[in-house]
Amino acid sequence: MFTAASIGISLRDGVSSPEELLRNADTAMYQAKARGRDRHAVFDQAMRDRVVALLQLETDLRRALSRAPIQLPEFQLRYQPIVALETRRIIGFEALVRWQHPDRGWIDPAEFIPLAEDTGLIVPLGQWILQEACEQLRSWQAQFSHCLPLSMSVNLSTKQFTQTNLMEQVHQILQQTQIRGLTIDLKLEITESAIMENPDKARALLQQLKELGVKLLIDDFGTGYSSLSYLHRFPFDMVKIDQSFVSGMDSRNDQSEIVRAIVSLAHTLDMKVIAEGVETVAQLTQLQALGAEYGQGYLFAQPLSAEAVEAMLGSIAP
Ligand code: C2E
Ligand code: MG
Ligand code: MG
Repeated sequence: MFTAASIGISLRDGVSSPEELLRNADTAMYQAKARGRDRHAVFDQAMRDRVVALLQLETDLRRALSRAPIQLPEFQLRYQPIVALETRRIIGFEALVRWQHPDRGWIDPAEFIPLAEDTGLIVPLGQWILQEACEQLRSWQAQFSHCLPLSMSVNLSTKQFTQTNLMEQVHQILQQTQIRGLTIDLKLEITESAIMENPDKARALLQQLKELGVKLLIDDFGTGYSSLSYLHRFPFDMVKIDQSFVSGMDSRNDQSEIVRAIVSLAHTLDMKVIAEGVETVAQLTQLQALGAEYGQGYLFAQPLSAEAVEAMLGSIAP
């Protein structure tokens, strides 16, 4: 058996009670754990401020999500177009959530999704996102029939993926929004880490989702642990190459080689490729040469409001 200790240290200076001294030591200990465990951390006021700020954000998130139904303007979805690299035709969108905090303004998902996961609030939030994105797609399919086929990609967090009633949620939403009858429409984006938590369970769940007619995408590919050896064991339809590889393509040869390897692996396994974070024409040209099918990034469009998407689709000639 191997043991290790994370130690939090607090000093008596300026501390007014034994409880405060212990509380500070406790805060410092969590910092030590967060920094990688088996180490020590000395308390300082900035740590306390961070904890308080996080707690405040958590309280605000709870408040925002306790309103039923969840509604505008606190949470909104942005939609980033995904295009075919060869023709630049829009083939669909990725839904990306934003939170408009009453005091702090727009907050990025990188900040509140982990908090929503830790507190379990991701369940109602995730359900709303899925529902909202599907309804939006259905309405665009009806309104812009000359742009079909269009699909919608929705991100699933680790908790959402491992939570028990995901299947029912997806099934119910697909029925409600009646998008099953049309061409394949819903894509779910799942990260490697979500799968690696419990690979056997994940495989079974992915299989069931696939049977519902949903397409499965592996998100941020190349940044997790599973990578090459695991990819063929799961029924993914597409691989999203993480933007950290794409962004280095025009300046660093090794990054291009990684992208080449991922594209060729994906194709060998009969999966299509979406390149994330395409920002320059040079990257686009390289990706086309490597045979990547799809891309998304600021070169084509930022994540857009629903109104901006409608203006964009409306301007495409039938
Ligand atoms: P992701 O799924 O990999 O989403 C792509 C992120 O890259 C988005 O950030 C998008 O705005 C950004 N991006 C797009 N094009 C470019 C580009 O050309 N250059 C650069 N530098 N960035 C680009 P965003 O919206 O801040 O989302 C961050 C992450 O938060 C997402 O990464 C996803 O993991 C998570 N997330 C976003 N929306 C949701 C959601 O509705 N549910 C869940 N569970 N997670 C979400
Ligand atoms: Mg994604
Ligand atoms: Mg990604």
